[in-house]
This record gives sequence, C-alpha cells and structure tokens, in this order.
Amino acid sequence: MPADPISYTARRVDGRVQSSRSAAPELPAAAPAGTLIDTRGRPLRDLRISVTDRCNFRCTYCMPKEVFGAGYKFLPRDEVLSFEEITHLARIFVAEGVHKLRLTGGEPLVRKGVEKLVEQLAALRTPAGEPLDITLTTNGSLLEKKARALADAGLRRVTVSLDSMDDAVFQRMNDVGFPVGKVLAGIEAAHAVGLGPIKVNMVVKRGTNDQEILPMARHFRGTGITLRFIEFMDVGATNGWRMDEVLPGKDVIRLLQTEFPLVPLKATAPGETAERWGYAGADGAHDPRLGEVGVICSVTHPFCGACNRARLSTDGKLYLCLFATQGHDLRALLRGGASDEQIARAVAGIWQGRDDHYSELRASLPPDTQKAAHRIEMSYIGG
Ligand code: SAM
Ligand code: SF4
Ligand code: SF4
Repeated sequence: MPADPISYTARRVDGRVQSSRSAAPELPAAAPAGTLIDTRGRPLRDLRISVTDRCNFRCTYCMPKEVFGAGYKFLPRDEVLSFEEITHLARIFVAEGVHKLRLTGGEPLVRKGVEKLVEQLAALRTPAGEPLDITLTTNGSLLEKKARALADAGLRRVTVSLDSMDDAVFQRMNDVGFPVGKVLAGIEAAHAVGLGPIKVNMVVKRGTNDQEILPMARHFRGTGITLRFIEFMDVGATNGWRMDEVLPGKDVIRLLQTEFPLVPLKATAPGETAERWGYAGADGAHDPRLGEVGVICSVTHPFCGACNRARLSTDGKLYLCLFATQGHDLRALLRGGASDEQIARAVAGIWQGRDDHYSELRASLPPDTQKAAHRIEMSYIGG
C-alpha cells in the first residue's frame, strides 16, 4: 500500500465514467453497509467475477480465433487473483451491499479447483447474516464432470450458454468443433445434482443461428429450464459487430408466438436483465408447467437505468460497465497492503462516482466511438 491511500477521480468520456488514479489525501466518506448508490441512483448489488481470461471455446462473437489464436498472450499467472484474494475482495463488496455473486470468465470451469473458490465464497454472509446468491455462467463443456463438486461446494445454480441444437451451427459458432450433446449432458448433470433453476443463454446472430430459435424453444419448453435469447452485443473490440446482425428481442418473441402463445410476466428482481414471457396454456394464461423464456435486449431496449452490476476482472480491476474502457486496480490496493477499510472506501468512492449507461447512449454515439478499439474484451471482464 502506498503511503497515501489511493483515491479515484472520475471524468466523463463519451457518456462513460473513466477514472484516473491519483494520490489524494481525501477519501470519500464510507457509506453505511448496504447503501452504496451511484450518481444515477443505482445501488451496488451484483458482483460478476471473472476467474480466468482463458477459454476452451473460440465463439466467433466473443473470442474470435483470428485474435485469440496461438500467439495470444493471456494473463500470466502472477497477475491473476488467487482464490484467497477474490474471496477477500468479495467479502468487502458484500459488506458494501452486494448480495449476488456470479462467477464467469472466460470459461470459469477451466480454472483449476474453481469449486474451492465456490466453497470459500459460499461461507460469506451478508451484513444481515444471510447466505449469498452464488451462481456461475459456463459454456457447459466441463459441467458433466464438475456439477457434483460445484453443488457440494455450495453453488446454487448455473447458467449455461448454448447457441443451437444443431451440431453444424453450434460447432461453427464455438469454432472448436464442440458438440451440442456434451453441453446437454452437462445441463442434465447440473439438474441431477439440484443446481437450479437452470437458465440457458442463446446469443442470437441474425443470419447465423436465428433459424435455431424455434428448435431451442421446442427443446427446453416444459423442462423447467428457462431459455433466454441475448441480442448480439458490440462488447469488446474484436467480434466484428454489426447492427444488421442483431435480431431484436421483439422479433424473437414474435417468431416464438407463431408456434407458442406467450404472455408477458413481471420482473422478479430489480435490475433483472431479461424481459420474461410465460408459455400460455389452453386457457390463454401462463402455465407454469410449460415454463418461460426471456429476451435480453441490451441493444434495442437498454436496461442501464436499473443496472446494479459491477465486474471484477481476472487481474483484479473493478469495471463499472460491460463497455468500460478502464478499470480500477483493486489488486494494487490489496497487494500493496491496504486495509479492508481503505479498500472499502475506494470501492465506495468508485461506485458513488459511477455514471455509466453506455447502452442508452449507443444509438447516439458516432460510429467510431461505437467501435472503440480500446474497449475491453468480455472474456477478460466476464459476461
Ligand atoms: N464462458 C462462459 C459462457 O460462455 O457461458 C462465461 C463467459 S461468457 C463471456 C458469458 C456470456 O456472455 C455467455 O452467455 C455468452 O454467450 C455471452 N456473450 C459473449 N459475447 C457476447 C456478445 N458479443 N453478445 C452477447 N452475448 C455475448
Ligand atoms: Fe468462451 Fe464463453 Fe466467450 Fe464462448 S462466450 S468464447 S465460451 S468465454
Ligand atoms: Fe449496465 Fe450494460 Fe448499461 Fe453498462 S451498458 S450500465 S453494463 S446495462
């Protein structure tokens, strides 16, 4: 820890807050536990932790092979937060009001012994003494092998990404030839050990896998698994995003309704990203036995107004938005010997200065800003 505690000053760039570190004597006043509010009135509730920047898939929309090929330099081991460091920081965030943790990446299950991290995080309690809501997003490739250990370690549920029921389409998208059947086996294993309710995320790219929307819905309807369709996003700087490849969520719902009557459902939690639709029964009302689907319309219907999520990158930087260009180095504080109180104050100051609402601004930004070359990658910051 440097002699002067580090404080952060924020300035607005393209509607996003960018931060510059500066040694300054004044620290923001510590907020009472559970009440960190940003400049737009949004509380800090959800922390997404990227446990690795590596992945065994090369999804074209996330880690295209041409960029993340053999020569790509992933973070060296000593720059990656240890499980103890992650737990240490998570404990501070929980004291500041976070009650939901999501492990992500990269592919979180390729991090060796990740169940040990789950176990450490599961032992944390909110200031009111409640256990945390701990979940994990995975491509499902290692889930069949790991589901039991994850559940035993205290994981509550999982979200599995799957973009198609068709092997040829799926393999073109994951770009490593991984078959659908193995992901389905992972989902089955997660279900068998009680990791639920399970959600399945499908990124929809117009012209690539939109023909798979109905087959995916047919497969998961009535299984208790909620399928969610995610609009292809312009996250990172390498996935060649184009607006004409975004299939708006409302078109997905319209397509589903050609085969399945759907009724809109209310949000279950503040800051929920998905718009929920229930499958209707013969009486036209939602039939819970048939379940529901969700659409995540990050591009066409942004939900920044309720965004209560912070992201901790693999190397310990705090990001306030999926589209941020700069993070706040908490690892430097931690490894520099800062006290928990000093780190908590830094986190409070960062969150209280937050103004990020990129998705609301996207349409009005000049095209060169939309394709920001310096934007961080989703595999590093976590989805
Ligand atoms: N590897 C894990 C997985 O794929 O589930 C976790 C990390 S991944 C970055 C988290 C989520 O982000 C996945 O559901 C993935 O499909 C989604 N995602 C990645 N790139 C995306 C993009 N360009 N647009 C929309 N969603 C994306
Ligand atoms: Fe890997 Fe997940 Fe990105 Fe696909 S979406 S490349 S599985 S991190
Ligand atoms: Fe949150 Fe996404 Fe809006 Fe950023 S763009 S503030 S991550 S909802």
